[in-house]
Amino acid sequence: MSEERRRESYMIVFFFIISISILLGAVLIWVGLQGAPSGSINSMMQFLFGIITIAVAAKMMSDLMKTREKEKEHKYEVVTVLQCKNCGVKMERPTRDGEYVGMITEEKCQKCGTSSMIIRFIYCKTPLEQAVS
Ligand SMILES: [Zn+2]
Repeated sequence: MSEERRRESYMIVFFFIISISILLGAVLIWVGLQGAPSGSINSMMQFLFGIITIAVAAKMMSDLMKTREKEKEHKYEVVTVLQCKNCGVKMERPTRDGEYVGMITEEKCQKCGTSSMIIRFIYCKTPLEQAVS
């Protein structure tokens, strides 16, 4: 969970850098245009550099968006199916680290309250819209 949050804040920083690059590029273009009537090479360079900066920032932005889309596509949930050793009731919840089939956990049964449940299955849940395609 904290890993995801760190990635999220990293994304925000990245977006921030891209926004600043676009702003910088816009300023460079503007400055270049201001000096354009004089026809100096310096203002032409500023103008060109501004366009390049914006182009690079736009490319980075689209790449980032693509990466995010891909990550969403690959998101799946791993779930564990537990069965109560006493009454046999089955329960499902997200898988935790280090779990394996046949492992006995000390979780409380929701039906009879016994604190002994055996892991029957661990499987990957694929979102329905992906399974169809
Ligand atoms: Zn039970």
